[in-house]
Amino acid sequence: MRIVCPFCGERELGEFTYLGDAKPKRPAAHAGEDAVYEYVYLRDNVAGVMDEHWYHGGGCRAWLKVTRNTLTHEISLVEAAAGAGAAKVGA
Ligand SMILES: [Zn+2]
Repeated sequence: MRIVCPFCGERELGEFTYLGDAKPKRPAAHAGEDAVYEYVYLRDNVAGVMDEHWYHGGGCRAWLKVTRNTLTHEISLVEAAAGAGAAKVGA
């Protein structure tokens, strides 16, 4: 699998570190123990397209949001985790 970093271009997977599902959001400071438990420990096991966070430690050290099909490893979008610098694969 290769990832097209919006800052470095297409690079091999070994340069990146998988950080997991991009969907969970940190709960508010007083959200309660159950909300914190769910945020830290519970994740969906998605079979299909999902947004993931990846870290380009072997390159620009940017945090990226990668939209990937977990069944085929097809990547349809890579963008900076903050949303800037989006790069569509094949564009
Ligand atoms: Zn990069």
